[in-house]
Amino acid sequence: MSLLDRHRAVMPAWMPVYYGDDALEIVSGSGRRVTDANGRSYLDFFGGVLTTMIGYDIAEISDAVRAQVATGVAHTSTLYLIRRQVELAEKIARVSGIPDARVFFTNSGSEANESALLFATNARRSNQILAIKSGYHGRTFATMAVTGHRSWSSSSLSPLVVHWLAAPDRLRGRMAGMSDGDLLDAAVDDLREVLATVTAGDVAGLIAEPIQGVGGFVSGPDGLLGAYRKVLAEHGILLIADEVQTGWGRTGDHFWGHQAHGVVPDLITFAKGIGNGFALGGVVGRAEIMNAVPATSFSTFGGNPVSAAAGNAVLDYVLSHDLQENARRVGALLIEGLRNLPYGILADVRGRGLMIGLEFVRSGTTEPDPAVTTRVFDLCRRNGLLVGKGGLYGNVLRMGPPLTLTEPEAREGLAILTDAIATADA
Ligand code: PMP
Repeated sequence: MSLLDRHRAVMPAWMPVYYGDDALEIVSGSGRRVTDANGRSYLDFFGGVLTTMIGYDIAEISDAVRAQVATGVAHTSTLYLIRRQVELAEKIARVSGIPDARVFFTNSGSEANESALLFATNARRSNQILAIKSGYHGRTFATMAVTGHRSWSSSSLSPLVVHWLAAPDRLRGRMAGMSDGDLLDAAVDDLREVLATVTAGDVAGLIAEPIQGVGGFVSGPDGLLGAYRKVLAEHGILLIADEVQTGWGRTGDHFWGHQAHGVVPDLITFAKGIGNGFALGGVVGRAEIMNAVPATSFSTFGGNPVSAAAGNAVLDYVLSHDLQENARRVGALLIEGLRNLPYGILADVRGRGLMIGLEFVRSGTTEPDPAVTTRVFDLCRRNGLLVGKGGLYGNVLRMGPPLTLTEPEAREGLAILTDAIATADA
């Protein structure tokens, strides 16, 4: 029995696995490359959904983790002091831009957002949350409720009352002749309209991704979160930035995605790449909000010594190698190369730094084309390049390679993408 058949026989039917009957088992990795169980090597432009922030088999990170494992203690519980966890919290508080910040560690992005929602709803004594359509925030009860993407969320049993904002989409805006300024004005009008239908002072917070990840790397114009914030502040509504995909220099221009919006959120959540594959997530935020939980709140594994050792090594590596600048430079090269491609199926090349999305349509129309997207996706894999897929209509290829991606690797990936898009367009 193949591993795929065994997987299907024992896992729930809804678990997504890429490449259908040709599912991939990655058995080793080095730098920006992985090898599958058949010995085939791939250049990895997805990093397992942006989880491999630095790359595979990076000595500084493997050594830090090995040193912790060598103590004989992988973890006991967070009831004891964990030196690495405190060190990491100090660093994250420093880079947060939030004065007198507090940090709480979790094992995942879902738990990070669940915690942020817990803190915000407690601080405001309200279960009302604003969220943005087509956003993704996780798979727990509260995070599914604020995930505006029905294929990922069944929120009928939501513990929250959610008020939805339209997702500002620059591609569709451009196609409709709207400037970024028009989109900003429309988004603020939308927020004001939604708040007019409720008792605005009773709303706890707005949760938003600076660039929507699962939603297809869609973003509003720069400054959007700042513009929302001005309205939110009139009612004391908190701003939660979900930086699970956009943090740690990924977007090149800034350390955090929200910095492009000229705003400091009340709470910031992070996960995915911050452990370079080790399970780590968390929330950093203003002390009075983080401290507002009236009872004790505890995570057995959140910020465990192994994950915290990885987290310290990742953050040190990002900062000491200026990976944000590398993401900006190598990302710009990729984006420029992709924007020069003359194919009708490729409607949009968008992104920032090393977070790049390609949107595919039926040539000459605005109609999403998930079939052609899958064709490009499969061709890339056949030619040795791993990318991701997503978007509300399944018509976006997503790329989030390790931030150490080199220029020659970017050119190699670009050549494979070009070939795949040309073949699918023919
Ligand atoms: N927020 C965002 C923006 C995400 O992309 C994800 C994961 N795709 C999550 C939260 C949930 O993270 P996890 O899968 O680690 O629970």
